Amino acid sequence: MTRQPSPSLVIEPTANPTSAEARQALLANPVFGKVFTDHMVTVQHSNERGWYDAKLAAREDFVFSPGTTVLHYGLEIFEGLKAYRQAGGGVALFRPDANARRFANSARRLAMAPLPEDLFIEAVKAISDLDRDWIPEQDGASLYLRPFMLAADATLGLKPADQCLFSVIASPVAAYFKGGAAAVSLWVSDHFTRAAPGGTGDVKCGGNYAAAMVAQLEAGRQGCDQVVFLDAVERQWVEELGGMNVFFVFDDGSIQTPPLTGTILPGITRDSIIQLAMDKGLTVREERYSIDQWQQDAQSGRLVEAFACGTAAVVTPIGKVTGNRHDFTIGNGEGGEVTAMLKTALLDIQYGRSEDPHGWMVQL
Ligand code: PMP
Repeated sequence: MTRQPSPSLVIEPTANPTSAEARQALLANPVFGKVFTDHMVTVQHSNERGWYDAKLAAREDFVFSPGTTVLHYGLEIFEGLKAYRQAGGGVALFRPDANARRFANSARRLAMAPLPEDLFIEAVKAISDLDRDWIPEQDGASLYLRPFMLAADATLGLKPADQCLFSVIASPVAAYFKGGAAAVSLWVSDHFTRAAPGGTGDVKCGGNYAAAMVAQLEAGRQGCDQVVFLDAVERQWVEELGGMNVFFVFDDGSIQTPPLTGTILPGITRDSIIQLAMDKGLTVREERYSIDQWQQDAQSGRLVEAFACGTAAVVTPIGKVTGNRHDFTIGNGEGGEVTAMLKTALLDIQYGRSEDPHGWMVQL
């Protein structure tokens, strides 16, 4: 494989930007993931040439052969991170280096070319900067960035990608759940699992989400907001939700989250919450926790809060858990103090309202 320094992005602003008026109308109340900014990043890769044709230009549709690998074998990875308007002015990204690292890991797991981390960071900074007028001003709003990469070879041959296409699109977002900051209800999926040992649960590939759809549908039919997945082997250890990690808060003030044993996604919010909780002097355990224990502790009052966390949903209290063998409410069903405190601490850093002691924010 040819090695070469990563190319710099060539920036070609669109000749037909959305009018300020039309943009303001779109930004008034953006539905998650449905509105896109004027631009997109694209970078090509082939094993022979390395990375080339890196550009930030007008957003346009892709044109593919119907034989393209991604359409048949799902060779696709993605990331999600946000650009935030800062209290003191300006715009900043939250830990893009961590997303860049995870993206490269995801690529390696799918035998795709790992994108140089500096090119990933340059790309997400450049699109946030060029489309900064698309960052909504409402409280809790931000610009969600979606870097992704797919196998672009026009072949049905079942083999690792030779040609890859990396892209970044951006989407202004308000709060993720329809209920805003309200607690979510979970459905315990005791039939479908999300990830098995040796599988792809710890990387961010499209296939993981495809395989989880039916479980999410089942949750919806049961009147719940989200699925909570159990481990695939013993079917008892709580792993994570379809798109969020999970934390438990106990009456002694300690918090716990499932360990990163290869079947759950190493969330960047998860990692940040662990750090913030330690900064606040809380005891944090990364230890497995069974669904039966969760029910027992919720009923005895030993468990006082639980919350889910991720880039899109930030920190969201878990109110109620239901399944074929489970049915319990956590605390008063509406969240609690520790959840609220950690959420505020995280948001204050992300929106530049407090110090950033770990140097997480990257200003544009
Ligand atoms: N788990 C899964 C399965 C996810 O898709 C996400 C969202 N990326 C998370 C957890 C949370 O990760 P992060 O905090 O990095 O957004």
